[in-house]
Amino acid sequence: MTTTGFISSVARRLEGKVALITGGASGIGECTAKVFAHHGAKVVVADIQDESGRSLAKALGPSNSTYVHCDVTDEAQVKNAVNAAVTTYGKLDIMFNNAGIADESKARIIDNEKVDFERVLQTNVTGVFLGIKHAARVMIPGRNGTIISTASVSSKVGAAASHAYCCSKHAVLGLTKNAAVELGQFGIRVNCLSPYALATPLAKQVIGLDDEQLENLMHAFGTLKGVTLQAEDVANAALYLASDEARYVSGHNLFIDGGFTIQNPSFR
Ligand code: NAD
Repeated sequence: MTTTGFISSVARRLEGKVALITGGASGIGECTAKVFAHHGAKVVVADIQDESGRSLAKALGPSNSTYVHCDVTDEAQVKNAVNAAVTTYGKLDIMFNNAGIADESKARIIDNEKVDFERVLQTNVTGVFLGIKHAARVMIPGRNGTIISTASVSSKVGAAASHAYCCSKHAVLGLTKNAAVELGQFGIRVNCLSPYALATPLAKQVIGLDDEQLENLMHAFGTLKGVTLQAEDVANAALYLASDEARYVSGHNLFIDGGFTIQNPSFR
């Protein structure tokens, strides 16, 4: 995956905060872990890829980061990851429900197997539900916290990916709105992010393209000609939502899509 190498050094915008990132071992989650740590947060990296998760936490520095194995479809493991943040660093300020999978089958609906459909929903929907639930559990007593989940442009438009993926990302938006309304009374903000395609392992699986083909796709469909979405762009959006600069932003779906979802297809 190509990156811009741009990590803002403007200020340590998350100084004193504790963050938990699911799907933190790769792609958007990995990049966000680096950006959050750079901005002063203690970061719990949670994933099922133990080797890369552990080596990322080590690279971020043992006093700044720790790794915990967490399959987001398993409630006991999500609860354990949240508790690990509280035990290790004393609290949880930022929950980033970022783990997600794609459905490579791209089956037409009449051929789509129920088992494949439900597998995607378990990770992308149940995983986010459990993340919001257990983050709220530890955030409510302190009446503070911010919860961010990774949706996708598939939270708004159809046919960018499989039926299950599209459905799951619409559901992330639904969970975000519902939780934002309910948790606002405790001072907890809940938002989601909707990136367009970037060349992570997941995107290659969902769209079935290599790096070069993905870049061409970005150039063909974004409104920002010559600009290609990078993991840092998504991580910097997460940084904003996680920071106190977004203290009045809740229930929002922040698109990082170069205008993909708002363009008039006839205006090309
Ligand atoms: P990625 O494959 O690089 O990272 C996903 C991470 O989630 C991996 O580390 C994987 O091990 C982890 N994961 C998968 N299942 C898990 C589970 N059950 N429990 C815990 N961890 C699990 O992909 P990415 O592109 O960085 O994806 C991150 C998020 O971004 C996903 O929610 C994805 O749907 C979303 N997204 C990606 C794109 C894109 O084009 N890459 C676009 C829009 C949204």
